Amino acid sequence: MLLDDEVIRLVGISDRALAILGETDRTIDTRLHAHLPGKGPVSVQAYVVYHNAVRGPPCKGGIRMSSDVTLQETIQLAEIMTYKTALMDLPFGGGKASIVAGSGLPPQEKATLVREFAHKIRNELTSGAYVPAPDIGTSPREMAVIFGETHMRECVTGKPVGIGGLPGRREATGYGVAVVVEQAAKELLNSGLSGLTVGVQGFGNVGSWVCTFLSERGAKVVAVTDASGGAVSRDGIDIEELKKHVAKHGGVEGYGKHLSNEELFKLDVDILIPAAIGGVITRDNASDIKARLIVEGANAPTTKEADEILSRRDIPLVPDILANAGGVVASYDEWMMAKSGSRTNKEETYSTVRKVLLEAFRETLDYSSAHEVSPRKSALALAAERLVETMEDRGWV
Ligand code: NAD
Repeated sequence: MLLDDEVIRLVGISDRALAILGETDRTIDTRLHAHLPGKGPVSVQAYVVYHNAVRGPPCKGGIRMSSDVTLQETIQLAEIMTYKTALMDLPFGGGKASIVAGSGLPPQEKATLVREFAHKIRNELTSGAYVPAPDIGTSPREMAVIFGETHMRECVTGKPVGIGGLPGRREATGYGVAVVVEQAAKELLNSGLSGLTVGVQGFGNVGSWVCTFLSERGAKVVAVTDASGGAVSRDGIDIEELKKHVAKHGGVEGYGKHLSNEELFKLDVDILIPAAIGGVITRDNASDIKARLIVEGANAPTTKEADEILSRRDIPLVPDILANAGGVVASYDEWMMAKSGSRTNKEETYSTVRKVLLEAFRETLDYSSAHEVSPRKSALALAAERLVETMEDRGWV
């Protein structure tokens, strides 16, 4: 459970509300059977989890495609979505889906599996119970497959723009992380971004766009790692060149001087941004972190033990449910656009993400100062207050 005793006490959550927040509303556990070119017939495990739907339906959350994703992790990610959507004040419940298959599969094989997945959960999609989006291993291309299977634009967000995707949605999560980094640098480090050094784990959708936006704002990205390895340059990495390298070679490794993922977390940088997988900042490396600020681009990159160590060391950390919420904020606009038939442009998407995230950032820091708790506890408390209020409004508690 994400809430700890201190947050529960602060919010004054009743036992009944706590019991509801502590359970998983629904789990779909299914097998996908398909014929993959070059691999023959395969059977693949897939899950859909609704953690809490008091602010939905729909339950909102991406589809993760990874060979090591588990049901437990999918539940944890759905729970994060419950608090993230509440913190952003969106009328969505928390959901997540996963397909247990390699994130590096060729696009045609991914499309085959996602098509089977869409068949299997067709009722969830077309009834509006679950509205997916991209996550690790999936992209607008796989969302296009879901649109192709349902022919309903409101069934999925993060689609390509040509089939009703929102201009700016693709980069919205990374853009939002950059907005939060800039504000956190200003308020917590008393500094503009210019010249601040940054280390980023992950150079997929979130990580690559964070690097782009931070570089454009004058920060110096000195280190980037991913599943292939990593690169470090004290003079700053040219992000556009790195993108070309990754497109050609499939990963960051080989671009300049090597840096491992382990080394990244010990590097002397001002700002550290985990933007890949979960559970990478642990009790084993939290004491070695030299960064002055951590901003969570990934979901759940920091374990509870590491969180406590960082708090004791007075290293401020902006939590996932705030920092990486730009994607779901933009997804809400995409969903609304599909329902209303309206149109928008990239600048409006950026402006909405910026406004919503900065408001949530302000509320979170104010709560932190008022109650003398970390930004993570504050963000969770604010979200929990909203969830409890909605449960009361619906007569659940
Ligand atoms: P992605 O698949 O586009 O990229 C994932 C990146 O992580 C790749 O660079 C990959 O090489 C790297 N990676 C994978 N395994 C690794 C490992 N063991 N060590 C180091 N790096 C590794 O995924 P994404 O959409 O960028 O998602 C990244 C994180 O951001 C995830 O935690 C996801 O849940 C979170 N997130 C994504 C969105 C979104 O809109 N895509 C929104 C909110 C949060």
